[in-house]
Amino acid sequence: MKTSLRIGSAFGIGIFLHWSFLLLVVGIVVFFVVQSGPTADAVTSISVIFGVFACVVLHELGHALAARRFDVPTRSITLYPIGGLARLERIPSDPMKEFWIAVAGPAVNVAIAIMLGSLVYATGRTMNPSVLMDPFMDPISTLAWLNVGLAVFNLLPAFPMDGGRVLRALLALRTDYAQATQTAANIGQGMAILFGLLGVLSFNPILLFIALFVYAGAQRESQQAMFRAFTHGATVRHAMMTRFATLKANDTLDDAVDALLAGSDHDFPVVEPDAEGHPRLTGILRRQTLIRALSTYDATDPVGPIAGEPCFSVGDDEMLEDVFTRMSQEQCSTVPVLKNGDLVGLLTLENVGELVMVASALEQREASDVRKKMAPELQRLRESPASLVKNSDVSENGNDGGTDRPAAPGRRDA
Ligand SMILES: [Zn+2]
Repeated sequence: MKTSLRIGSAFGIGIFLHWSFLLLVVGIVVFFVVQSGPTADAVTSISVIFGVFACVVLHELGHALAARRFDVPTRSITLYPIGGLARLERIPSDPMKEFWIAVAGPAVNVAIAIMLGSLVYATGRTMNPSVLMDPFMDPISTLAWLNVGLAVFNLLPAFPMDGGRVLRALLALRTDYAQATQTAANIGQGMAILFGLLGVLSFNPILLFIALFVYAGAQRESQQAMFRAFTHGATVRHAMMTRFATLKANDTLDDAVDALLAGSDHDFPVVEPDAEGHPRLTGILRRQTLIRALSTYDATDPVGPIAGEPCFSVGDDEMLEDVFTRMSQEQCSTVPVLKNGDLVGLLTLENVGELVMVASALEQREASDVRKKMAPELQRLRESPASLVKNSDVSENGNDGGTDRPAAPGRRDA
């Protein structure tokens, strides 16, 4: 959040201003200084812009409060020069819930437009759209029309606009979620190409910019949907590694270094058998911790006191989607998987990430078939998480300090 400034909060949701927003304000001021127009005009246009952004905040709050009704919390609302973004903790899997959350934003703009419109009408001023040509004539009327514009623009049936979500929700009532997303994304990209053509033909850079924005948004959405379609209904058991090295509390740092160099694991669970011989987790020795410890401890010191706590542990029957979201949020690269208190597996962002890569590589195929086709790959992943990467040219960074995974399991950097 360092790139954004917290400007307040509403209903317990933090509202942030992205730094690039300031460029917009500075740009307007510079524009009026260069034009040496009246200061009153600069003040009016800045207030109209702030008025618009107040409406954008209300639009995002519309989404956030609708989401709250369905028990989906909103992490933050951030304002960018091109609009706002409400970060919901998750997207509800029920299409109708997504429909209402998506519709709530534009509905707020329609309500504002009606209120401001009535005000303009009641005070006997003109509601003619020509006020948009000269906002200084009637800022209230201008704001009313801009809200109409916001509602219409956001309801265009294209990702990443709200209309794209509405379209997907409606499609998802009849077909499966991934297929609905793909169709909605295709329509979005088709519209983006149309915007782009119009932008080129009319020499309109703003249309071109919107075209690129929509195109990229549609693509991102279809990739995310692929991941969700793939992980939907999958449990941690489907993705966890079951073959991994462990350490005992009285193993030495030297043993840990040997384990690090011998395989592709980064983080080592420290395990002690309990009275009945069940493997109980006592801590996790992360690679960074190990490397740091090498300069302060003796090579013969035991790893037990050096190992840290895992961020959290999960049960093998928990939903993969939820666990993955939590891991990303808490920047947790490895979590131990427990069953009845016994350590039965490890889930790493890296191996979940590999599943996503494979899923998106199979994007062209029928979404519902992906899981079935992935079954042998999954089996291989479970047995040897490095095997997939070995056969591809991907050198994706780990999220724990960023050294590439070696092409073949064996020696690795330290
Ligand atoms: Zn919206």
